[in-house]
Amino acid sequence: MTKHPLRARDLLDEWHKSTHYNRSSQISATLRIQSMADTFLQQDMVPLYDLDVYKKYYSIFQIVDDDELHHGEQENRFCHNGHSKCHKLSCGHYVYSEKQAQPCGMTCNLSNANKKPFFCLLCVREILDNQQERLSRRWHDVLLPNFVHPSTETACWAEQANSMREVEPAYVDPHGYVLLPRIHCTIAMVRAHELRIESEGKQAHTTTLAPIEAKVANVSTIAIEYFEHFLAYHDFLDHADMRILVSIATILIMRQQLEPLPHHAVLTNFNAPPCANFEELVEIAVRKINYWASGLVIRDVLPRLPPAVRGDAAAVVAADLASRTWHRSIEGSFGMQHWIGRKRNLAWCIVWAFKWHGLEVEYEDVLEATGEKRDFLQDDFVHTVMSRFVLEKDWRGTGHIRRFVKFGNGPETIKRLEALK
Ligand SMILES: [Zn+2]
Ligand SMILES: [Zn+2]
Repeated sequence: MTKHPLRARDLLDEWHKSTHYNRSSQISATLRIQSMADTFLQQDMVPLYDLDVYKKYYSIFQIVDDDELHHGEQENRFCHNGHSKCHKLSCGHYVYSEKQAQPCGMTCNLSNANKKPFFCLLCVREILDNQQERLSRRWHDVLLPNFVHPSTETACWAEQANSMREVEPAYVDPHGYVLLPRIHCTIAMVRAHELRIESEGKQAHTTTLAPIEAKVANVSTIAIEYFEHFLAYHDFLDHADMRILVSIATILIMRQQLEPLPHHAVLTNFNAPPCANFEELVEIAVRKINYWASGLVIRDVLPRLPPAVRGDAAAVVAADLASRTWHRSIEGSFGMQHWIGRKRNLAWCIVWAFKWHGLEVEYEDVLEATGEKRDFLQDDFVHTVMSRFVLEKDWRGTGHIRRFVKFGNGPETIKRLEALK
């Protein structure tokens, strides 16, 4: 009997069939994978790779070496010499083309502009997840049946079928194998590998930062919080290797302590693989942390505002606007990216956003609630720069303000804008 290797779109059917066969919902299939992953976490998974079930689904392959290539095996080291079954895309996901090795494409990490890009199913799923409420906490969550939307995904593929090449999601494990998350137990293995690397990363933080912990309390706890935040937003960081994320968290925490460390030394310390766009990732991480921190500060500040203001239903919407404005402003290039002074900027954004929603709060009160002291020179500077930032462009056109607030250009908007000046 000829064996038909599974293709990307068959994968969805396969999942569907297996959940149907087990008479279980997507939720219970998800739970089953979770509990399998917990079991795999307790053991060394590599000996399991030889079981028939994985062979049946062609779901685990050893990565070849030069010798095996000479014996007729096909290349599956990712993007090796621009031609392989396995490719690493610029989004950070791996994909696999089981039938035959293929040349790199436009979306490969080492891109080949002349070749069609590969279709990344995991990216599609992440986008679908983001369009709803963000539900995934880790990139590998989207492998779970709960995140599979067969009809939408098939429609997405149909749209791209002419311009992209069909491949399926893959995972390169730490032991030299490619895993194709086609069936529940391989999905569980991928998750178990990732969860294990994650906990090793946290351990590495604690060990590396222990000497500093003696001087600065909680430094490794905060570094681990950063790391977790990066994992929750892994797609923004090109799904970078976790050792790279651990390095970035350490670099940022030391920068905040005003004891910056040389980046290459940190990367070496955590045994991180080479990363061409490391500096870029550091900057993205800074922005993510700022945004996240703004949410935390706002959460801290809100209860300290006058009861009349914080009790108002608009306060929640205003707080969100404040957070977004602040995030956008530090994304800009007017030199406010620095952590120091962040609370002053944020206090201004809170006042602005609350005012926008018709809630009056005093700048002094908010500033005090953030724990910052009044400094007329700096506060004046913040006021000038920030008000210019939100109002400078013609807001009737494509100005900045449209990015922050969801009002139209009606008289109400004009009234509110006038009131802010
Ligand atoms: Zn490639
Ligand atoms: Zn992707």
